[in-house]
Amino acid sequence: MNTSTASNSDQQVPDSLDPLAGEVLAMLRQHDPEAADIMAGEAQRQASTLELIASENHVSPVVMHAVGTWLTNKYAEGYPGKRYYGGCEWHDQIEDLARERAKSLFGCGFANVQPHCGANANIAAFMALIKPGDTVLSLPIKSGGHLSHGLKPNFSGTFYNIVEYDLDPETERLDFDEIARIARECKPDLIICGFSAYSRIIDFAAFRAIADEVGAYLLADIAHIAGLVAAGVHPSPFPHAHVVTTTTHKTLRGPRGGLALSDDPEIAKLIDRKVFPGSQGGPLMHVIGAKAVAFGEALKPGFRTYQEQVVRNAATLAGALVEKGYRLCSGGTENHLMLVDLRPRDAELTGSDAQDWLEHAGIIVNKNGIPNDPRPPMVTSGLRLGTPALTTRGLCEAEMHTVADWLDEVMSSGGDAATCSRVRSEIAEFCRSFPLPH
Ligand SMILES: *Cc1c(COP(=O)(O)O)cnc(C)c1O
Repeated sequence: MNTSTASNSDQQVPDSLDPLAGEVLAMLRQHDPEAADIMAGEAQRQASTLELIASENHVSPVVMHAVGTWLTNKYAEGYPGKRYYGGCEWHDQIEDLARERAKSLFGCGFANVQPHCGANANIAAFMALIKPGDTVLSLPIKSGGHLSHGLKPNFSGTFYNIVEYDLDPETERLDFDEIARIARECKPDLIICGFSAYSRIIDFAAFRAIADEVGAYLLADIAHIAGLVAAGVHPSPFPHAHVVTTTTHKTLRGPRGGLALSDDPEIAKLIDRKVFPGSQGGPLMHVIGAKAVAFGEALKPGFRTYQEQVVRNAATLAGALVEKGYRLCSGGTENHLMLVDLRPRDAELTGSDAQDWLEHAGIIVNKNGIPNDPRPPMVTSGLRLGTPALTTRGLCEAEMHTVADWLDEVMSSGGDAATCSRVRSEIAEFCRSFPLPH
């Protein structure tokens, strides 16, 4: 299973590296061969395996290299025009560029590009909208929510009174009558929508109607679907949500980071205060530079084509798996991901076994609890599969059938070592035709 024990071997380097990456690697090899080997090993892993983790993607070389610039050397606490340190002329410009592009991408009036990650954007949103002890209504992680929406050990579950809504047990979809009923009962101060493992379109207007009825704020966390939203392939949370948070590294295909958006000048001021100095110190200006570049890419017409293909690929993969006897939670997908219930195919098969066997075979996935999963979270009866990374490499509908064949071959082999290693070489060969962005 382990792939990389080789050291200093040029075979570890994928042939399709972009020219600058090749130079960077050569420079690292001179300077620090130990670190260079590890990084080359990771490049080779990405190049020779299929990435089906729904929250991951492959950034363009331009975005990747934009993370490694002079902007990393500077403290720029504060905001453009209001910094605590001198020398921020260019940092003001790059942050303004990132903010302007984020606003046009999502069609809103205010953007804070400083959150280090999606969870940090949510910390700022909570602090801006509600007080410790206030009531938050959200979907629990076991049903597809995110840990920053109220999991006990997280800041959210520690400092706020969390009330849960759940999916309809029959349809495995949001049940707005039930959410409204719970909201009337618990009178939340904040309602959260936006999920990590939900394969259906989110009706933001329906959430806002409930929020208005009970006097709550609405936070839309679009971490997963931000790229779809930016491309107009999923409805926008604006004008419905008071605050929108997201990551920049999932379907949006930017550097690892977070983003907080709003259309209300008063709320926007609070968000800024709660990001800095409320919950972070100096911004990662090099990442903000790369966010600007990634947002520029997302504003180009090709980005919509990409997102449409992501959704078509997910639908095709979903259909192929159903044909093979797997069950999809909610019956299918309307976005970039699907939650696969493994039990109808094989009652004994667990998510954790499937994840391990598939990794041996060069297919990277994550086990995921399905709604009302009888197995514990470290075992599970499901897999979450997504198509953003494969679509970036150029895989289309025809290849989704090939991928479904490999998935089923490995999962129905009982983890047979010969099958896994044969599929692994087939995939390594296949990947040569679909190189990483270069
Ligand atoms: C991924 C995710 C996040 C958090 O992202 P990090 O960058 O890992 O902090 C927040 N909310 C949802 C719904 C997510 O799926």
